[in-house]
Amino acid sequence: MSSKGQLLIENPHRNLEFWHKVQIHCHSQQSDGKRGQTPEIIEAAYRDAGYSGVFLTDHNRVTPGPGVPGILHIDSAEYGLGRHHTLALGIDRHGDGSGIASITGCACRNIPKRLAYIAGVDKAIPVAAHPNARHFCTRLTCPRWCGGGWSPKEMASHAGHYAGLEIFNANNAARRRWSLNCWDEVIARGYRRVWGFASDDCHDVRDDKTFDRGWILVNSQIDPKDCRNGLVDPEALGRDMLENIRGGNFWAVVRRRGRRGGSAPGDGGAWLAISCSQNRIHVTAERPCETIEFCAGASSRRESTSASGSDGFAYDVDDWEDYVRVRVMLKRDDGQCLVAFSQPLCIRRE
Ligand SMILES: [Zn+2]
Ligand SMILES: [Zn+2]
Ligand SMILES: [Zn+2]
Repeated sequence: MSSKGQLLIENPHRNLEFWHKVQIHCHSQQSDGKRGQTPEIIEAAYRDAGYSGVFLTDHNRVTPGPGVPGILHIDSAEYGLGRHHTLALGIDRHGDGSGIASITGCACRNIPKRLAYIAGVDKAIPVAAHPNARHFCTRLTCPRWCGGGWSPKEMASHAGHYAGLEIFNANNAARRRWSLNCWDEVIARGYRRVWGFASDDCHDVRDDKTFDRGWILVNSQIDPKDCRNGLVDPEALGRDMLENIRGGNFWAVVRRRGRRGGSAPGDGGAWLAISCSQNRIHVTAERPCETIEFCAGASSRRESTSASGSDGFAYDVDDWEDYVRVRVMLKRDDGQCLVAFSQPLCIRRE
């Protein structure tokens, strides 16, 4: 520790009182979900697994909400065929529908156009889907198969135009589920407000490998119990959720082991809080962590420091570090083993 000057640590985590378990990526039979997987069945399954909200992202279409009580549906889609799938989270439906068709096709070269469409016309949050992997859809009719997902070069050149990327996608082949390397590369290049998401990309809620495996925990002032009991205006909840996602006030969570479903961690209050004082980052957990890892990075260097067995940690930011993100492994009482990723905290020097 050789820091002399005062550091300015930009922390996207707001440490509000409540947490919402949210699915950002899943498909119904309206696109290539398994037959019988209606929007009703899917959203009811997520509600029963403790989720407050679901972004139903059928391919190249906006599937309307089925009106399942106790869970918030947010209009969304997954755009693209072949490579570069992109999620559009929270589409403000404008009713013409023509724009979506005009930007699909085998859209290898029109990523900027698609990202601009999502942000500008849809007024939605663009998220790069499964950058490390090709997507195994059953009915893909890409006229020219063009390989894997987003290349590191493409991730970097478009980084100013998407809100984040999937660092975990449960639908990808075992070795390609993770895209953490893409994330660190983009952040290290200076894009510090690129958020990491975890998702199911589920096409059949009966499949344990892709249902309730990856989600985000959105921090909020709204109590999820009130939402389940119908006491919260869905519009207000939707706005709140989108605002906290845009601002990076959420964790990406992956279930490694244990049964599916159950309440969201943090339903009863604290989950993981991150705060900063001077040159120090504090993490407080609801229970002792198996492991906590601070991953620091800069353009030419990356290092991680880990500790275990406690529910409170402090980390001193070093001189060379441009960003720090936190990874926590936790075991819950119901046997679930969870890995949670914070968003990057950006370090600035006076
Ligand atoms: Zn996809
Ligand atoms: Zn699909
Ligand atoms: Zn998908």
